[in-house]
Amino acid sequence: MHTRVDIRRDDTVKVITGRGKNAKDKKRVLAVFPNDGKLLVEGVKLVKKHLSSKRTRNKAGIAEQESRIAISNVMVVCPSCDKPTRVAHDKKGDRFIRVCKRCDAPLDK
Ligand SMILES: [Zn+2]
Repeated sequence: MHTRVDIRRDDTVKVITGRGKNAKDKKRVLAVFPNDGKLLVEGVKLVKKHLSSKRTRNKAGIAEQESRIAISNVMVVCPSCDKPTRVAHDKKGDRFIRVCKRCDAPLDK
């Protein structure tokens, strides 16, 4: 099954579900996995990872790392109107660009 993914790496998104005291803040997308419908969002769903002693000679033994959340749990934040929005599409030349459904500003640079 292929679902269209309207979120890209380095987008600013708002997590609309999920736990954690900072879950509702605006965050940066670190990576998108369209085939799995998942993404990594900076600082969201941190899990503690125990690092092996070989790799941690110069570090603490525990690191925090983001784990993947469902793409449907985030909304893109429009850089123009600064609100979470659904994504519309518009044609610019011969390619499609993403635009904000609230204010029609392009989401892509
Ligand atoms: Zn907007």
